[in-house]
Amino acid sequence: MDKKICTIIVPCYNEQDAIPIYYDKMKKIMLELSRYEFEYWFIDDGSADNTLSEIKRLNENDERVHYVSFSRNFGKEAGIYAGLEHANGDYVAIMDVDLQDPPELLGEMLECVESGVYDCAATRRVTREGEPPIRSFFARMFYKIINKISSADIVDGARDYRVMSRQMVDSILKIKEYNRFSKGIFGWVGYKTKWIPFKNVERVAGETKWSFWKLFIYSLDGIAAFSTTPLSIASVLGILCCFFSFVGVIFIVVRAALFGDRVAGWPSLVCIVTMLAGIQLLTLGIIGLYLSKAYLEVKKRPIYISKEEK
Ligand code: UDP
Ligand code: MG
Repeated sequence: MDKKICTIIVPCYNEQDAIPIYYDKMKKIMLELSRYEFEYWFIDDGSADNTLSEIKRLNENDERVHYVSFSRNFGKEAGIYAGLEHANGDYVAIMDVDLQDPPELLGEMLECVESGVYDCAATRRVTREGEPPIRSFFARMFYKIINKISSADIVDGARDYRVMSRQMVDSILKIKEYNRFSKGIFGWVGYKTKWIPFKNVERVAGETKWSFWKLFIYSLDGIAAFSTTPLSIASVLGILCCFFSFVGVIFIVVRAALFGDRVAGWPSLVCIVTMLAGIQLLTLGIIGLYLSKAYLEVKKRPIYISKEEK
């Protein structure tokens, strides 16, 4: 019987030190999993260091190693998309190069999908050790909020590390949107997913590419991509303001009729005016966020530009 092919997609951005360590580790894992044939797609996401030459070195010595090199940094989401487009495997795995996604789980994940019971085996971190507490706190908040306001099921602590069936990959590739929030897309396409929990592992080399600010923007992107609830907030706030001003008008008219008109209350008036201006700017901002997303979407720009591939 022909061996099933498993494609491994590895997005890399300035990972010159991690690549050799990752590759050595994976070599051992692949020996254990010799029932499968493997294929790598390293995605060099416009790295400024020697990432590409490290990948090329592997490519020269190992025919299973392929790569796409982007013309600039397009982000991990674009890297994942490029990998999925190029993957030829019956099963497709997405994996970080920093060994924060334990390769030991790969066998179990492949078995899950091969059994046919599941279309996808995905992983989630159950601990966040080694991460700043403030980051964990906001991450938890984000998952709570997005699951309340969006229909896509986004699991707390979900990693991008997962193995998917060919069918699921083809479904994901049909989603051509420019603002890609993979965690949402994976859930949106449906299919049966087995969740495998694991304990957080620290990076082997290099450092994380995600600053707090970048993560914050990324979470807003996620919310804009998978929920329109913030847009309804504008209408709800509008209705509430109308209601309170109506009550206020009646109160003032009645009071003036009973006790005469007294000029007073300027400070409170200023407070009310500023608050309303704040609410208006907030809702304008929310509308602007969706408008900007729609604007980028209608331009139909490519998700990534490949400078070189092999
Ligand atoms: N990555 C990428 N493009 C980027 C940022 C990150 O391809 O613009 C890759 C990176 O090389 C790594 C993976 O995405 O393989 C995860 O990045 P990182 O380890 O910095 O994220 P964290 O694990 O801290 O969430
Ligand atoms: Mg990492």
